[in-house]
Amino acid sequence: MTDQRQNQASTPLTGRVIQRGEPGWERARRNFNARIDPQSVEPKMIVFVQNAADVRHALAYARANQLPFRVRCGGHSPAGHGVVDGGIVLDLRDMKALEIDVASRSAWAEAGLTTGEYTAAVGAHGLATGFGDTASVGIGGLTLGGGVGYLVRKYGLTIDSLMAAEIATADGQLLRVDADSHPDLLWALRGGGGNFGVVTRFQFRLEAVDAIVGGLLVLPATPEVIAAFLAEAEAAPQELSTIANVMPAPSMPFLPAEHHGRLVIFATLVHAGGGQAGERAVAPFRALAAPIADMVRPKTYPEIYPPDDASYHPTAVGRTMFMDVVHHDVAQTIVDHLQSSDAAVRVAQLRVLGGAMASVPAEATAFAHRARRIMANVAAFYEGPEDRPRREAWVTDFAAALRQGDNGAYVNFLGDEGEARVRQAYPGSTWDRLAGIKARYDPANLFRLNQNIRPAMGPER
Ligand SMILES: Cc1cc2nc3c(=O)[nH]c(=O)nc-3n(C[C@H](O)[C@H](O)[C@H](O)COP(=O)(O)OP(=O)(O)OC[C@H]3O[C@@H](n4cnc5c(N)ncnc54)[C@H](O)[C@@H]3O)c2cc1C
Repeated sequence: MTDQRQNQASTPLTGRVIQRGEPGWERARRNFNARIDPQSVEPKMIVFVQNAADVRHALAYARANQLPFRVRCGGHSPAGHGVVDGGIVLDLRDMKALEIDVASRSAWAEAGLTTGEYTAAVGAHGLATGFGDTASVGIGGLTLGGGVGYLVRKYGLTIDSLMAAEIATADGQLLRVDADSHPDLLWALRGGGGNFGVVTRFQFRLEAVDAIVGGLLVLPATPEVIAAFLAEAEAAPQELSTIANVMPAPSMPFLPAEHHGRLVIFATLVHAGGGQAGERAVAPFRALAAPIADMVRPKTYPEIYPPDDASYHPTAVGRTMFMDVVHHDVAQTIVDHLQSSDAAVRVAQLRVLGGAMASVPAEATAFAHRARRIMANVAAFYEGPEDRPRREAWVTDFAAALRQGDNGAYVNFLGDEGEARVRQAYPGSTWDRLAGIKARYDPANLFRLNQNIRPAMGPER
């Protein structure tokens, strides 16, 4: 165990600080989701920390000046947690060191890396850690919430590959956390979000994932095809993970014009084995209907991520849930709701889980939805604040129509939905266990501007 107590005054801040109105301010404060009104929510400063000492400096400064702060890695929080009005954004994006140990199949990654940067670097060695579906998402937020992506059925959630972490805690310590040192904290970091401190480095296990069969498959979205797609995804070998977006076909050049605006299943399939087994695994999906587009082919794993468009900043509302079955009637409900809206982008995203993710006991990590079979997200884009209420009403109604089981939520897809919804991310005894660990490591709830878990018996917010 290496608990380091450093004299903060002896190590000056090395990172950049940008204050409100200074050159580069507009760019620096921007996040992926453009939902937060920049007029009403504006930080005082953004500290681009360079190392763990800088993180502790920034925390000490915020504490001493009683300034609210938020931690930002990739800036993709759907709840708008990448920005804080009148406070400090502690930005990790200059911290991108990556130590890859090919021999031991592990990597230490600084917390400012995006999932795409990490995937490209380890992919050069034919290795991978499973993250999500979008390369610009940060490893920080994604990992701390769980991490559901293209390797979920083969290798589990991202947290199932998390071996260790270094974290700056509320009392100014820098802790090394692993199975032997602070195992309670390692358990909590595996799904408990940013509640326990600022993680400065993550250690991940690497898997040999080089040649895959994968890519985009676009099918007509009739209720029959949707239900059959989900059934095939559940029956598929666990090497195959799918993310199916049921949505009106965008007017993209590779889609024939007659399909634009009509409902399609816009699915990405990844068989993390490749070769003949991969071709065999995707064949049943191709046979469900005449594909409108079929880009599923042998490739390397990093190639599954399309290049990022840095200028893309949508305004969206969404709801997340878990489901257990999508039979014909449920698929019909999906089609009916999508057809009832005229939002420019509207979607029901269905991720079949199971496989390695489900083989981990629910109590082993702070992500406890291991038995749930499908993760579903419904979302709509809106244009301007006046358009938002009706899009909110639509997603609320759509989510209610699909709800099955315990109303559980995946914390990483939660918006700003209140404490009751955060609790639904942590079912059973998970919430109480997290609150107890929070009381040990952050009794004053310093890290509270997040999907917050209040310390057991702690102060009110
Ligand atoms: C387009 C898009 C696609 C997505 N796809 C997926 C997907 O496929 N799979 C999936 O699982 N999720 C997905 N997500 C959800 C994503 O995992 C969460 O939004 C996540 O919180 C984003 O992480 P970030 O670092 O980019 O965000 P940020 O906004 O930077 O961080 C979110 C929160 O995480 C905490 N945090 C981040 N880094 C640290 C750190 N180092 N230490 C302590 N706390 C920290 C903070 O509380 C922060 O407010 C997606 C989101 C978007 C917008």
